[in-house]
Amino acid sequence: MRHLVLLGGGYGNMRILLRLLPNHLPENVHITLVDRVSYHCLKTEYYALAAGTISDHHIRVPFPEHPQLTYCFGEVVKVDLDNQTVFLQDDSTISYDDLVIGLGCEDKYHGVPGAEEFTYSIQSIDKARATYQKLNNLPPRSVVGIVGAGLSGVELASELSESRPDLHVMLFDRGERILPMFPERLSDYVEKWFEEHKVEIIRRSNITKVEENVLYNHDEPIDCDAIVWTAGIQPNRVVRELDVAKDAQGRVTLTKQHHIPGYENVYVVGDCASLPHAPSAQLAEGQAEQIVQVLQKRWNGEDPPSEFPPIKLKGILGSLGKKHGFGLVADRPLTGRVPRLLKSGVLWMYKYHNGY
Ligand SMILES: Cc1cc2nc3c(=O)[nH]c(=O)nc-3n(C[C@H](O)[C@H](O)[C@H](O)COP(=O)(O)OP(=O)(O)OC[C@H]3O[C@@H](n4cnc5c(N)ncnc54)[C@H](O)[C@@H]3O)c2cc1C
Repeated sequence: MRHLVLLGGGYGNMRILLRLLPNHLPENVHITLVDRVSYHCLKTEYYALAAGTISDHHIRVPFPEHPQLTYCFGEVVKVDLDNQTVFLQDDSTISYDDLVIGLGCEDKYHGVPGAEEFTYSIQSIDKARATYQKLNNLPPRSVVGIVGAGLSGVELASELSESRPDLHVMLFDRGERILPMFPERLSDYVEKWFEEHKVEIIRRSNITKVEENVLYNHDEPIDCDAIVWTAGIQPNRVVRELDVAKDAQGRVTLTKQHHIPGYENVYVVGDCASLPHAPSAQLAEGQAEQIVQVLQKRWNGEDPPSEFPPIKLKGILGSLGKKHGFGLVADRPLTGRVPRLLKSGVLWMYKYHNGY
C-alpha cells in the first residue's frame, strides 16, 4: 500500500479528501489525516464564535469516513523530510510515501513586546473559544481593543458590536483607511457602518507594546479590558521550522506541481504555501484541486501537468454583523444586504458539499 499522509484537516486537505473519496482513490493507496482536532473547523467563522453569535457546533463539520482513510488526532511537532517521517507531540511517528502539509497559519506579532502574551486570538479553534469566554464575560461598558483592521479584525469588531452593544470596541489600524486591499468606496461604507454602530476606529496607529490590559499606541498607554490581535499571520510553526526555501512571508516556495523542490512527494497546501494571492480558504481549495491532479497522475505512473492555469478566485465577502456586508465579486464592489446573504449562502453550500 502507498501511504498518503495529510497534515491538517483544514480547507485545503478537506478539498483533497472530497475529490479523492469516495471513488477516485486507487485501491493501493491508504490515507492518514492528522489533526489536533477531531472534526473539520470552519475557520472563516471564528470571528462569530469569538463574538458569541454562533455556537461552537455550528462551525464543526465531521470528517468523512472511508475504509481507506484513518485518522490520527494529535499535535504535529516536526516533519523530517529526508526520512519521510512526521513526529507527534506524544513521541509517536508516522511515515509516509506522499505528504500534504496543510497546517494553516498562526498570529504574527511583528516583534511587538507583550503582544503574544497579553492578547487574545481568533487563529485557532481553542484560541477563538478562549476569546469568546473573555469577551462574553466582560462587564458592561468594558473596553475591547482589536488590533488590525483587515478582514478578520473588521468582521470581529462588527459582530462584537452587535453581540455586545454595551461594550466600547476600539479598532486599531496602521493605515489611513481600513481594509486597504478593497476599493475606497468599500472602506468608506464599512467606516460609516462602524460610526453608526459606535465602533471607534483609530487610524495611523502603531502598537509599540502590550501589557496586561494596556495597549501602547505610539507609546501612549490605552487601558483595555480585553485585547484581540488580528494584525498579521504567518505559517504554522512546524512549517517555519522546515529547512526549505521560503518567500518573504515565510511560506514554502513550491514547484508548479505544488511540491517542495527536491521532495517530489511532499506538497504544501493553503496558508503555508507561497502562492500568487493572499492566503484564503478559496485559494487553499483551488490549490488542492491541482494537487489532487498531480497525485493521481503520479500514482498512475504518468507525468503531472507541467503547468496549471492560474487559480481563479471568485471574490471576497466580508460581514458587518448579521445583516450587512461588503465584498468584491468579479471585481464588482458590493455593499449592504446582498453580500451578507451571499456570504451566508457560501457557508451553507460549503457545509452541504462536505456532507453536513
Ligand atoms: C476570522 C477569519 C475570517 C476569514 N474569512 C475568510 C473568508 O471569508 N474567505 C476565505 O477564503 N478565507 C477566509 N479566512 C482565511 C481562511 O480561514 C484560511 O485561509 C484557511 O483556513 C486556510 O486553509 P488551510 O487548509 O491552509 O488551513 P486551516 O483551514 O487553517 O486548517 C489547518 C488545520 O491544521 C490543524 N493544525 C494546525 N496545527 C497543527 C498541529 N501542529 N498539529 C495538528 N494539527 C494542526 C488545525 O487544527 C486545522 O484543522 C478567514 C480567516 C479568519 C481567521
